[in-house]
Order: sequence, then C-alpha cells, then structure tokens
Amino acid sequence: MNLQALYHNPKSNYAFAYNNHELHIRLRTAKDDCKFATLVIAKKHAWMEKQKFQMKKVATDRYFDYYQYNYITDDPRLGYYFLVSDGRATHVYSESGVTETFDDQYAYFHYFQYPFINPIDVHTIPEWVHGAVFYQIFVDRFCNGDRSNDPQNVSPWSELPKPKSFFGGDLQGIIEKLNYLKELGINGLYLTPIFESPSNHKYDTTDYRKIDHSFGDKDLLRKLVKQVHEKGIRIILDGVFNHSGYFFAPFQDVLKNGVQSKYADWFHFLEFPENDGSPKYRCFGTSSNMPKLNTSNPRLKEYLFDTVAYWMKETEIDGWRLDVSDEIDHQFWRDFRKLVKDINPEAVIIGENWHNSYPWLMGDQFDGVMNYPVTKSCIRFFALQEINAEEFAEDLSGSLMWNSDQANFSMLNLLDSHDTMRFLTWCQRDKKKLMLAILFLFSYVGIPCTYYGTEIGMEGNGDPDSRRTFDWDESHWDKDLLTFYKRIISFRKKCKPLQYGNIQMWANDGAFYLEREYGNEKVLTVLNNTGEDKNILLPPGKAIEWVTTEKTADMHTEFLKPFGGFSFYYSV
Ligand code: CA
Repeated sequence: MNLQALYHNPKSNYAFAYNNHELHIRLRTAKDDCKFATLVIAKKHAWMEKQKFQMKKVATDRYFDYYQYNYITDDPRLGYYFLVSDGRATHVYSESGVTETFDDQYAYFHYFQYPFINPIDVHTIPEWVHGAVFYQIFVDRFCNGDRSNDPQNVSPWSELPKPKSFFGGDLQGIIEKLNYLKELGINGLYLTPIFESPSNHKYDTTDYRKIDHSFGDKDLLRKLVKQVHEKGIRIILDGVFNHSGYFFAPFQDVLKNGVQSKYADWFHFLEFPENDGSPKYRCFGTSSNMPKLNTSNPRLKEYLFDTVAYWMKETEIDGWRLDVSDEIDHQFWRDFRKLVKDINPEAVIIGENWHNSYPWLMGDQFDGVMNYPVTKSCIRFFALQEINAEEFAEDLSGSLMWNSDQANFSMLNLLDSHDTMRFLTWCQRDKKKLMLAILFLFSYVGIPCTYYGTEIGMEGNGDPDSRRTFDWDESHWDKDLLTFYKRIISFRKKCKPLQYGNIQMWANDGAFYLEREYGNEKVLTVLNNTGEDKNILLPPGKAIEWVTTEKTADMHTEFLKPFGGFSFYYSV
C-alpha cells in the first residue's frame, strides 16, 4: 500500500460534528489502493470498548480516494483509529502513524481524539438552505419600475452597457417582476449592492445607512422584503465591508485632515503626504475609488456592525452575501456571524471567496461561499471541453472534500455572475451545452443560483457586457430554455434527494453520472457531454419523476444523444 498517501486530521474537514450527535469522519488513501477501510472507535476513558465500522468510499479525485463514516453517538467524547487493507496486509493508522498493531497498553497516547462535541462549535446551517433556489439580480439592469428616480444621462434600455452606463433599474422594478420570479419558481433573491454609491454597480459605498436614491428608499426596501416574503421567497443583500467608496464621509475626512482625522485608522493608509495631496492607501485591487477598510479597528467595526443590525432589524432580510470576503480578517467574520445569527438564527451568510475556503467554513464564520471552483469546472467541462467526464467528476469530488457536509449544502453554486462572462457566451451560444450545465447545477449539492436572464438566453462577455439589461420583450426570449428552467426548478424543489441527499459522481464510457441518495429515494443524473450517442446504464427502481434536456425523450431508451442529459428520480 501507498502508506505515505494516508491522511487524517482531527477537528477539521476530516472529522467534524455534523450536528450535536453525529460526527463525520473521513480518511484519505491513494487512489485505487485501499480495499477496506475500517474505523475503530472507543469512548474516551473506556479505551478497550472498541466498535468497528466499515467506511464507505465517498469520493475520488485525480490522486486520492476518500472514505467516510457518519458516527451517531450520545457520548460526545471519543477516540478512534483506522485499519486499512489492500487485501493482502492490514495496517493500523493512528495519531502515532502507521503501525502493524495498535498498542492498547498506551491507547490514550495513540488514538486520534475528538475530545468533546460542544454544540456551540457545531456548524449549524439554516434548514431552508436545503430547498433554496436562488436568483441573482444586478439592480440597475433588471427592471426600471420608476422613471422619476433615474440617474442623469440614463441610457436607452436596449443599449449595450459601457463601464459607466446607467439604465435606471430599481427596487420598484423588482417588485413589479415578482410574479415573473414566482412563476419561474425561484425562492431566493440575491441583490448586488443597493446602498448609496456613485457607480452603477454600487460596490463603492458612500453611505451604508441609505438606500441609493436611484434604487429607492428604506420604505421601498421594506415593501420589497415584505412582498418577497409573502411569495415564499427569501432575500439577501450584498455587504461590501472590505472597502468603502471614495466619497464615504470618514474617508473624505482623512483625505482632508490626514493623520489628525479621527478616522485615520479606519483605512490602510501607507503614508500621509502633507503637500502633494496624493495620500497612498490600500484599496480593492487597483481601484483608488475603493479604499480598503481596516476591519480590525474597533470603532469602524462597531459602525459596520451597527449598520448590519440596523438593516436586519429594519427590513427583516434573510442574510448576506459578502463582497471580497477573503481579504477581511477572520475575527471580523467571527464576530459578524455572532451578530447576524443572534438577530436571526435563520439568516444565511455567503462569502465571496473564489477558492478553497475551508478556513472560513468551519462553522464560526460563513455558512457557504460563492462556489467559483464549480463554475471553473463547468466552464472547462461543458463550455471548453478541456476536461472529460472522469476528470470533471474527480475535480468536483476533490473540492467536496475541502469542506464539511453542511458547508457543501450551503454553497452558492453558479454558472455565471456579474463578475464572469455569461455561460451561454462561454458555450459560443450552444444552448444544448448550457442546458446540460443547468441540469448538472440543479443536481449538485448546494444552492443553485441563476444570474438574471440566463433563463431567457441572455448573453454577454465579461464586465460590462455581462451586465446587459433584461430584455422584457417576450418575443425575444428563448422559450424552450425558459420552459426547461421552470421544469428543472420545480423538479429540484420536489426532490428530497437533491436537497438533502449525499452525492457520488463517476464516469462510464465517457458519460458523466451523478447520484444523490436520501432515505429510500435516489436521483441519478446522466450527462452526455460528447458529440456521439452514448449507451447509458439505467437504474433499477420505480420512477417518481424525471427531467431531460431533450424535447422528446423516452426514459426507456438506453442511449443518450450528443449533449443530451436526464435526471431520474426514483424510489429504491
Ligand atoms: Ca428608475
């Protein structure tokens, strides 16, 4: 066996409390190396009372296999080690490394330890997250419901956006389109920032306590939240706390008064030249209109936290999406979580981290993050055909092992956003590839999020072209795509395995397979992301419902057409 590949780390993504009575334990081995992995568990201080459990292989990435066992217990204190076998020899893997036998005499020294499951440390996610289907709105571009609040020099709605265009979209526009959204079937809204700011995107806040006048005001936001809730839809706002805008009053005060300003420590000033009027400060990227906030400063923190509490109490929003969240200190987020969950334990917290985010997803900061690693894999597999079905399954499986199961359920999965090219454009307008990717996204673990307009076939290159106005002329819509979208959303909302089930992925004969299991129900999604017919393996079991990318398809055929896919919901 490849003993060097064995890996486990207690109190991490390899051993985490799923709830107060359930510990999930993972073990990594070299790929295709281990035949049997056994978890040996003893209660603390009763070291000789051992129980053995067969671990299940739950994931395979390019180099490793991952085994998992979900241990349900009333005793929150335990020790454990692993037995691994390649079918010829069995090895013990404990905190003391790999040995031929386990030394019971000094058991306490050798066990991996989970000292105590403290409920306050358990990463608890809102129950509604499981059934959530989100929709992202870039407010200036969705719908203009009130011409009287339009910014000056507003562009005609049908024009293509330039970096500084304004189109007049607003909160009233969203209110007017709630029936459209309800009919689409989504039950969660994520709005890009709405607080006062001079830009069209509003990621450079001037006043955190004020809704931008071109979007509406506090009363209108209240009205929107109320109406959204009445339709069974939740709503989260974009919190931009990494940086402020250039015209944020405290920043202007520092520009004026330099080191004498009482806000000097609210930012990251590198120097305060007295004469040439060009203070140097850290900012978001290279954008001098977005000075970075010093979130470790207690007074700034108090100001921002009061702001967060203000909006949550005034408007009863359902959580936050957090901009550039990976550049802010962890302590800020730990205190932020406490604040938010104290006000509303059902609020969700989604960070904007683009990479492996385990340090933020241990239960003390975010519930999930925008899942750009999945976006990347979808672009490479569906749009660019750079990786095959097996590599797609491996890359996704590997990234699932970065995080706890509850964090995986809380990830915001997206094909595109205001920060990327639109997925249909990535696919060079090949709608079949987009539909295949949608079928995947709605089958995958985590919250599917649709960027406004994807459902009617909107296109666009990178920013600003990805932020075109929503075309409300129905004769321009791709009705087939919209029908498919409604169908897949309704399927997802009915299907418990897609909301709660565990997940396994693999490839067979070039087709991609994804299975979710929950109780005695399963969903099998099969995607043929190739240009040839593929024979497929149909599951035995009684169909409850199914959905397919094909217009006319027979669930009993045994092949999938090029770029065809289906999702089959059945009882075992
Ligand atoms: Ca308007």
